[in-house]
Amino acid sequence: MRPKKIPMRMCAGCGEMKPKKELIRVVKAPAKEESENAAPEISIDLTGKKPGRGAYLCHDIECLKKARKARRFEKAFSCKIPDEVYDKMEGELAGADG
Ligand SMILES: [Zn+2]
Repeated sequence: MRPKKIPMRMCAGCGEMKPKKELIRVVKAPAKEESENAAPEISIDLTGKKPGRGAYLCHDIECLKKARKARRFEKAFSCKIPDEVYDKMEGELAGADG
């Protein structure tokens, strides 16, 4: 039997490589319309099935905060991310633990 290859992804917060299964996917939904004012739809994807471009994050609110501070998602998704989107993600991540 060949050893199973574990897909590894990098956390946008701490930059560590971890098995994909242990990370949370953050997705930018495909734009519905080309508009300068359209807010990007960025959300935590707990199911791993949302369509769109993804970035990965540890299951740790500190990593989300680091990624926020370093604007890693802005770079990964090439768009501006409003504070309320981060606040919502922080809330979801905090709530996802229990
Ligand atoms: Zn991390």
